[in-house]
Amino acid sequence: MLPDFDLWREFSAVFPVIASIEAGRYLITAGLFSVLIWAFWRNHYSARKIQPRNAAPEDYRREILASLRTALVFSCVGFGMYVAYRLGCLTIYQDFTVKGPLYFLLTLAAMILAQDAYFYWTHRAMHHPRLFRTFHWTHHKSKTPTPWTAYAFDVPEALLMAAFVPLWVVIVPMHDLAIFSFVTWQIVRNVMGHAGVEMYPVSGKPSALFGWWNTTTHHDLHHQNGSSNYGLYFSWWDRWMGTEHPDYQAEVAASAMRRIRRKKPARVVAAIGALTLVVSGAMAGKADAQAGGAIAGNWATNGFGSIVQFRPCAGNPETMCGRIVWLWAPNDSEGRPRVDNHNPDRSLRTRSLIGVQIVRGLRQTAPGVWGDGSLYNPDDGRTYTGAIQIRNGSLELRGCALGVFCQTQILRRPDDVLQAVRRLEP
Ligand SMILES: [Zn+2]
Ligand SMILES: [Zn+2]
Repeated sequence: MLPDFDLWREFSAVFPVIASIEAGRYLITAGLFSVLIWAFWRNHYSARKIQPRNAAPEDYRREILASLRTALVFSCVGFGMYVAYRLGCLTIYQDFTVKGPLYFLLTLAAMILAQDAYFYWTHRAMHHPRLFRTFHWTHHKSKTPTPWTAYAFDVPEALLMAAFVPLWVVIVPMHDLAIFSFVTWQIVRNVMGHAGVEMYPVSGKPSALFGWWNTTTHHDLHHQNGSSNYGLYFSWWDRWMGTEHPDYQAEVAASAMRRIRRKKPARVVAAIGALTLVVSGAMAGKADAQAGGAIAGNWATNGFGSIVQFRPCAGNPETMCGRIVWLWAPNDSEGRPRVDNHNPDRSLRTRSLIGVQIVRGLRQTAPGVWGDGSLYNPDDGRTYTGAIQIRNGSLELRGCALGVFCQTQILRRPDDVLQAVRRLEP
């Protein structure tokens, strides 16, 4: 020991600081995310809730107490690091100019990647039946994680997790701010991974970023079944080792599709579910939206009987065609899929109504006006001359027989209907 190093004096001066930082970063981060979820619950997070179940009050109590115990374990290890640093066993530097910004960033990134690997393998080991009870049981008492689950560890697990930092710093000299950034990243990602609602901007399609970035759903599935998704920040270890949950991508897609709160009247749920499916499923139509201008994309018919998708006609991209992509009642009264049974062409009477092209050959004749098209009405199997006009954001579809007997249908964007439904929510 250094001659002027009084362990007890150092402990009484330094340990309370470390302990406040450790407990504080947990309480502040979990608290901030809880407030965030609460504040945006109605408008956003209720639709992103991953499990139908809610954590019970005793879950919160257990999680907070266990996490504070973990903060205490981390503080002991942190104090040990402080002593080792004072004795010259660890290289932690403060002068930014010593090694420069590139070294700072590279060592921080490397530390995160190394911890991700360390976590994956120690986590899998903790799931071994011989180790599970001692190391990892408390953490898995949380079947429905909350932001407060982040550090709910048994003491041996807390020690194992804390050991990574001194092990790493013994090997790699680190700037003290890089270590601080690392522990901040660690708690933020941990809280987000346990939030119970999907915190990341997921989409129905696998994206370049979130393909390898673990979402909240990823770790939530681990808490639900415990035999897959062992990874921490990134998904590559689970992919390489074949431990990714088989339904993971589907669950993320489902989360992306849920746009509004549960417990709606069944009709509204059906409509909105179908709408969001159609809207996001028809992203392919977005490119065509450029070509067709204002009428391209999906339109819901009056009364929401069906959704018609407009896009440039195959073979003649100057003109616009529209086909049925969704039906409110896809089956007839006998439960069979509805077919085009009024078609004058008998061979077409067995084809599904979904997919039938009802508008074809519309040409733009003026801004917001399309004409010279034909309109097929599956209700009577007749074809009319068709024209379309955009008025106040809705689409007026006019079909005429013999040029005099005309009927007009108003179609609206499904998203507009969706917004209106949302506004009606109590
Ligand atoms: Zn967890
Ligand atoms: Zn686990």
